Amino acid sequence: MAKIIIVGGGSAGWMAANSLLSQLNKNLDITLVESETIGTIGVGEGSTPYLKEYFRALDIPESEWMPACNATYKAGINFVNWSTVKGYENYFHPFFSQFDLKPAKFFFNNCNKRRLQHNANAHPNHYFVAAHLASLNYSPIVKEKVPFDVDYGYHFDSVKLGLFLKRKAQEKNINHIISNITEVNKKDNGDISSITTDCGKQITGDFFIDCSGFAALLVNKTQNRHFVSYADTLLNDSAVAIQTPLNSDEYAPPLTISKALKYGWSWQIPLANRWGNGYVYSSQFITPEDAEAELREELGLTDTTIKAKHLKMRVGRLDEHWRGNCLAVGLSQGFIEPLEATALMLIQLTIEKFIQVNSQNTTPSIENINTFNTEINTTFDGVRDYILAHYKLNTRSDTPYWRHCRENINETPSLATILNAWDSELNFEDTLAKNKSQLVYLKPSWYCILAGMGRFPEVTKADYESNAQNASEYCKSIVELYFLKNKEQLNTLYNK
Ligand SMILES: Cc1cc2nc3c(=O)[nH]c(=O)nc-3n(C[C@H](O)[C@H](O)[C@H](O)COP(=O)(O)OP(=O)(O)OC[C@H]3O[C@@H](n4cnc5c(N)ncnc54)[C@H](O)[C@@H]3O)c2cc1C
Repeated sequence: MAKIIIVGGGSAGWMAANSLLSQLNKNLDITLVESETIGTIGVGEGSTPYLKEYFRALDIPESEWMPACNATYKAGINFVNWSTVKGYENYFHPFFSQFDLKPAKFFFNNCNKRRLQHNANAHPNHYFVAAHLASLNYSPIVKEKVPFDVDYGYHFDSVKLGLFLKRKAQEKNINHIISNITEVNKKDNGDISSITTDCGKQITGDFFIDCSGFAALLVNKTQNRHFVSYADTLLNDSAVAIQTPLNSDEYAPPLTISKALKYGWSWQIPLANRWGNGYVYSSQFITPEDAEAELREELGLTDTTIKAKHLKMRVGRLDEHWRGNCLAVGLSQGFIEPLEATALMLIQLTIEKFIQVNSQNTTPSIENINTFNTEINTTFDGVRDYILAHYKLNTRSDTPYWRHCRENINETPSLATILNAWDSELNFEDTLAKNKSQLVYLKPSWYCILAGMGRFPEVTKADYESNAQNASEYCKSIVELYFLKNKEQLNTLYNK
């Protein structure tokens, strides 16, 4: 029986444990070792729609996990003050569904007219159902089944999510050891043979999964893997997080707010019982104390008994997530700042691909492992490109930080290709299609960010019939016809 050791009991460790326990049809003996004293990172409260697939694969319904994690629904992200272009001071990055097909067609068409200097309405907020769901405070849950999936994500308490997943893995009889690991022991070929705890216990295994967070204990201690830093393109390396109470019995609308501040951006995430707030910033431009003060002021928070949590972020990725008998998952494998809440999605993708490679009947070859690493790297780099686009497209000039992000940071080649196509008369869709293999974000997301930030030339040509009003009316009617009110749906989940 193969013995797998997972090091770390944060979201990455418990997500990996549950997936392996339920999906690898092999005779496995899985042990998870975590430290009580080091603890988990304790932040990370937003997801992409991909998390829905995670719970679906484990056959855990929303009615079970959401109340356990004070979770709410997320229809998208509202980006506020990233752009100073008149009329484009905020835009909504929606999660999509087939309901959007008709109005989105108008949007893409209008964007392309507007790029060519016609006076067409190209603000994304009119054309996507999720933007209207959020502004009307509906949930993304349909009243009756429709013949396609409606994408949506979640907000949740990350500590509670870890505890929930731990309980689930324990129900499946995972071996669980609480100890600090002090040594990682190697074989001659560089593989890991065992780990040693602070009580001197040696834990041997056939395969090791490093979920030890930014410590990256296994990959750092033994394998000296190369870390590809994103610091040259993504400046933010720090964050401060503060939890505040919900001052109302009403549920907040199903959206994350991402607001540009002086030296970074703040998040506001509505859970069922409180807000999660934070400020992601660059320590080159502001101190932790000043960042905390700016966030408190932004939140109107005068209660000094509410404590803040300060975090450093190591931004980038390993070049080999899997080498020999060790796979890195979670913060140990890499991290991209949480602007689009992508970290759990990258964890999931890594685990899923690992399971896929190991589901074949043969032992994975070096070629299999290299392909695995290349695919994960492409995904990380693709997410990085989309995040970087927010900074390159910003039009703020109130602080040197925003000017620096726009003017001094180099675009990656794939982002440069996209921006050049958008700014020129090239066919934008052809460019997206040609670069598809490098892009994690799909066409609607690229249109939304470029148009949402108001990246358009001056209007010099005649009006173009843009149908914004019609599209808005259409989306609103879809919302009212098909979706449940947020309050109604959450009250059902929370048995109120
Ligand atoms: C500011 C910020 C905001 C974020 N927001 C989001 C978001 O909105 N959405 C999203 O998807 N993600 C977000 N993330 C990322 C998310 O928090 C993490 O990806 C996720 O929690 C997984 O973390 P982890 O399990 O890899 O690491 P951790 O939670 O740090 O867990 C590490 C584990 O390893 C153990 N460990 C470490 N060293 C030892 C040792 N020597 N011996 C034994 N055990 C050890 C620890 O005890 C712990 O159990 C955010 C991250 C940051 C920094």
